[in-house]
Amino acid sequence: MADFDAIRRQFPILNQQVHGRPLVYLDSAATAQKPQAVIDAESGFYESINAGVHRGAHELAARSTVAFEDARAAMARFVGASAEEGREELVVTAGATAGLNLLATAFGYASMGRGPAAARRFALGPGDEIVVARTGATLTWFALDDEGRIRTDTADEVITDRTKVVAMTHVGNVTGAITDLAPVVRRAHEVGAVFVLDACQSVPHLPVDFHALDVDFAAFSAHKMYGPTGAGFLYGRRELLEALPPAWFGGSMVELAWMDKPAQYMDPPARFEAGTQPVAQVVAAGVAAQWLQSIGMDAVAGHEQALTSELLRLGDIPGVRILGPMSATARIGTVAFEVEGVHPHDVGQYIDAQGIAIRVGHHCAQPVHRHFGVYASNRASLGVYNTMDDVHALLDAVAGVRPFFGVGGTRAE
Ligand code: PLP
Repeated sequence: MADFDAIRRQFPILNQQVHGRPLVYLDSAATAQKPQAVIDAESGFYESINAGVHRGAHELAARSTVAFEDARAAMARFVGASAEEGREELVVTAGATAGLNLLATAFGYASMGRGPAAARRFALGPGDEIVVARTGATLTWFALDDEGRIRTDTADEVITDRTKVVAMTHVGNVTGAITDLAPVVRRAHEVGAVFVLDACQSVPHLPVDFHALDVDFAAFSAHKMYGPTGAGFLYGRRELLEALPPAWFGGSMVELAWMDKPAQYMDPPARFEAGTQPVAQVVAAGVAAQWLQSIGMDAVAGHEQALTSELLRLGDIPGVRILGPMSATARIGTVAFEVEGVHPHDVGQYIDAQGIAIRVGHHCAQPVHRHFGVYASNRASLGVYNTMDDVHALLDAVAGVRPFFGVGGTRAE
């Protein structure tokens, strides 16, 4: 059985005081802290291996390439993608945002007729339904239920035979709700649409297997899964990656170049990895994947679910409303909440003064906030290192907010 106290001790940053109080870090949905093994992997790479990959005939370049490709393979095994040489399904990116933009850009090029004949399936134009505004396609969307869950039960109506791309989050970064993907993926494939998953908030917290989920593309960031910033991955089913035109152009992605005719590009994943890659970060991301795997994602999910049940007691505090599902199942420990009568920034500052880090704002999800009738919220989000003491520290702090600000007739004198 995993020893979560010992796991917590592997995070040096947590062993400090903030505003004279022991740090309680509850902002892992924004970015997670790093265990010593990941920190050592990144600095160790710079100490003994550092070199560009896939070019250069010297020994360090060879070692660097092996470390980079081993990391890609470790990550692939972790998320249920192919790790087989020549059949790779993970493209290195700078993060989830970069991965999703890469995909949208490549779809844009496919819409302009670029890429092999098989790329036509990504081409979007007037009459098609989704996403990419500059192709003239129409954006449609799923409604949310009262607890902010995506109404995937409406997949048969929302996804039509005009739908070309369906994109959604696996886990909401405001609501923490786990999306029931199966009916949507099934329906998307029934009409021949491509299904794109934002797996940023699921990969660090739940067992995730892209093959089992049967998604076509998926993006996630290393820094939210205890790895470094500056690296992420775009998963693509191998045959789709092979059909997809490149999005960015530069060194290390061209097989043959001429002055008077189009270049011939390399096979995936190299086709999508133009320029010098974040090698140290990718190597350390591979270590993060192995580190999580050694704990076991079922154990991680179980630990976090027990803490989430307690964290949801936020909703019992007078004047506090949770923006998301009230049950600890089918959600993760990312809990956004509103303190009635107190601005989220005031809440955040009051909580921060007690050494507790949470996030305030709209968390890049304004329509979700509108759905709940608020502009912004506070968000506490759990990681593998959090403890019941952390959760209780937050509950006590939030209980003190309205009395402190004199809201609700409970001014503290
Ligand atoms: N998607 C979701 C659901 C997120 O929570 C985030 C991070 O805040 C992102 C995408 C963007 O990730 P990154 O900033 O690492 O590119």
